[in-house]
Amino acid sequence: MDLPRTPIQGHLEALTAAFAAQGHRLYLVGGPVRDHILGRAIHDVDLTTAATPDEIRRVASKVNPSSVYDVGARFGTIGMIFHDPDGQPWPVEVTTFRTEQYLDGTRKPEVRFGTSLEDDLRRRDFTMNAIAVDLRDGSEHDPTGGRASIEAGVIVAVGNAVARFREDPLRLLRAVRFTSQLGFQIESVTEAAIVECAPELARISRERVAAELNLILMSDRASSGMRRATELGLMADAMPELVPMLGTSQRPSGQHKDVFEHTMGVLDNLDGGDLGLRWAALLHDVGKPATKTVEDGVVHFIGHEEVGARMAQRILRRLHLDSALVSRVVALIRNHLRINAYEATWTDSAVRRLIREVDPYLDDLIKLSRADVTSYRRERRDAAAGRVDRFERRCAELQAAQDVARLRSPIDGDELMVLFGRPPGPWIRPVKEYLLGLVLDGELGEGDVEAARTLAKAFMQEREGLGDG
Ligand code: ATP
Ligand code: MG
Repeated sequence: MDLPRTPIQGHLEALTAAFAAQGHRLYLVGGPVRDHILGRAIHDVDLTTAATPDEIRRVASKVNPSSVYDVGARFGTIGMIFHDPDGQPWPVEVTTFRTEQYLDGTRKPEVRFGTSLEDDLRRRDFTMNAIAVDLRDGSEHDPTGGRASIEAGVIVAVGNAVARFREDPLRLLRAVRFTSQLGFQIESVTEAAIVECAPELARISRERVAAELNLILMSDRASSGMRRATELGLMADAMPELVPMLGTSQRPSGQHKDVFEHTMGVLDNLDGGDLGLRWAALLHDVGKPATKTVEDGVVHFIGHEEVGARMAQRILRRLHLDSALVSRVVALIRNHLRINAYEATWTDSAVRRLIREVDPYLDDLIKLSRADVTSYRRERRDAAAGRVDRFERRCAELQAAQDVARLRSPIDGDELMVLFGRPPGPWIRPVKEYLLGLVLDGELGEGDVEAARTLAKAFMQEREGLGDG
């Protein structure tokens, strides 16, 4: 096949020649070969060779990569970085041929170095990932029919599907991840094996599961990937909270979307959106099944945003996602109904308070609110979109006048201590909040120190008067 051209072409040619000088061939393998056949951009360079890791390190030193390192996570893999003409770093990972043996009764694979390219390809997960191309002459090695499956757009396990999933259950989720990244279908025998082996996914560390879920969420077909993963039973351990969303109807009659379908619509509506926004879309209604009540034929999900926020926090922590992402998602879920409740009658003060409460996530919340409209009825969608637009304009106006999130009381705690001749203590907070409240209400200028002093005195007099009886 024609070799993919990468911006580090010269370096790869030098590397190929250096291996050849030691009597070794070097093959491009796995993801980059698959992506090249599909006409997709190549984002990493994975290579395989019969050379041992020590030999790979020695050869690498002859072609001056910017750095050489051991890839800890991948047994026997040497990484090197080359820079393209624009100065962009490209990681190149070279792995010695391997064979894997899974001894009965043990769950850890025993990985051994192999001597044959074919054995190496046959231990890979899917046929589409088991093609190698010799970098010297472009000759293609495809012992499992990978090219045919790529051309047909199907994901097929290499060898016995059930055995392959048992060996490494992460492959279960990888299969779904590839459907959502590539738009492929899972071939039926492989799919049946996924359903059969789904419970085994519980053996895989939550971090590795989360990494795959992140890739699904960031793919072009996030909703179909999440749906597949849930329907195939792959969420039962990592995120069982998603399962009852399937079949929880949102209206008394069955004609309407269930919570899951609505959620998938919200994911689809998100125009781009980063990982945090996508997690928020996925989990924004996760509290609905637990809070559903039906009264006089009307369905309610009272408090689902708060219940959902707490559930999301547990889910995301369980997946070991980083804490900044978790707080952002939780804040978005907790507040996800607020903008869609906006009315023109809201006072400036009410809008300013909302801006501050959701700071720094206002823009995210606006995006989520826009996406959170999946009604079949056009006039409903238009009405909701109009409401979010009006809210956004109102915020912009208020923000143009002053940076609402940064508004402070005109006098701070230190000044209050001087003013009242008192030591620090819990008495300060209510005064500051009172003054800040007046600023938000537009009744006190942020720079109006004199007025603030007078107001603070009056406030304290009233408080102490009441308090001391
Ligand atoms: P991506 O586009 O995400 O990089 P990829 O196919 O390159 O996709 P990697 O995780 O980078 O995926 O793995 C590189 C190659 O290693 C795969 O193409 C596949 O051949 C093999 N591989 C990766 N993970 C597994 C696994 N769990 N079981 C078997 N083979 C695997
Ligand atoms: Mg890869």
